[in-house]
Amino acid sequence: MTEGLTAVFARLIAATGPISIAHYMAEANARYYGSRDPLGAAGDFVTAPEISQMFGELIGLWLADLWQRAGRPEGACYVELGPGRGTLARDALRAARRGGLCPEVHFVETSPALKALQEAAHPGAVWHHDLSGLPTDKPLLIVANEFLDALPVRQLVRTASGWRERMVGLDADGAFLPVAGTRPMDAAVPERFATAAEGAIVEASPAAATIVQEVAGRLAAQGGAALLIDYGYAEPQLGSTLQAVRAHRKVDVFAAPGEADLTAHVDFATLGEVAEQAGARWLGTSTQGHWLAALGIGARAGSLARAAPQAAEAIEAATIRLTAPAEMGALFKVMGLAAPGWPDGAGLHRVI
Ligand code: SAH
Repeated sequence: MTEGLTAVFARLIAATGPISIAHYMAEANARYYGSRDPLGAAGDFVTAPEISQMFGELIGLWLADLWQRAGRPEGACYVELGPGRGTLARDALRAARRGGLCPEVHFVETSPALKALQEAAHPGAVWHHDLSGLPTDKPLLIVANEFLDALPVRQLVRTASGWRERMVGLDADGAFLPVAGTRPMDAAVPERFATAAEGAIVEASPAAATIVQEVAGRLAAQGGAALLIDYGYAEPQLGSTLQAVRAHRKVDVFAAPGEADLTAHVDFATLGEVAEQAGARWLGTSTQGHWLAALGIGARAGSLARAAPQAAEAIEAATIRLTAPAEMGALFKVMGLAAPGWPDGAGLHRVI
């Protein structure tokens, strides 16, 4: 058995001093996702495509609709970042085909455990470790659900002597705890937060920004569109959103690195700006509840329930879970991007 990450980090910190939150999160999640299928009732968390086929179907219809209105360009590729079990792709591609869109399928995935599940569901797909290997000469229709939240965040904390990077150190008992780094980081703090009170935390995900920049650059160069769906906030805010989930419960972020899912909320305002600077059109950011309603989840739920009356209650419950503001409907956001010259996306006109 490989050595636990707790022991590896403890040795590293004892030998060379605290490590950054970003380092801690990146290594913990690489270990976590690389070694298991975390999804489903028996795992650690449940995602929207695992709740109902309607989620992936409406994404597939959104893509097919946009592609049709863009003039049905040849050779379009379906690209999914972090496809999990491949469930979203299965439902989206089935719906897209009904709309005349039969794309090549490309997956960006680093986890061997999840790749094995995806291979079983999508034997014809092509896998990539990052975006660099994706085709460069065809329009890309890119989807990412609960992908950006798993990418590492960097945190800066305001101390009595200025801004410092938030790090992970060891206390006297050998447990991990957050500490302030020694190097001044004032220059890295956005101006709007520079005078925040002592103890304030500024969080950012350079990794997510890099991916969105790459996505936007590809759209601008090749044509296409992207749907990025995640929990997050629409306006920049202060505070740590780093959380750990294990067996459907929130647990201490520092308790068991590599054994719990570490995520942070996605800063959609910043990512929209990054995308526009990289040459893409920002089509808008809606709440998941608003977007699914605009795309007709009510009608789809009704037709599924008529076809399978014994499942009507479960279909209704899934619809509520995906759309109600107190469930996933308000916390989750849907951000649309497209190539310049491509049309608007359905359901994204309400900018939040
Ligand atoms: N989109 C799926 C799975 C979400 S879990 C769903 O909605 O059910 C996060 C996914 O992103 C997993 O497939 C995980 O292996 C993948 N992932 C996490 N970090 C990644 C990285 N740095 N590069 C590529 N894939 C990553």
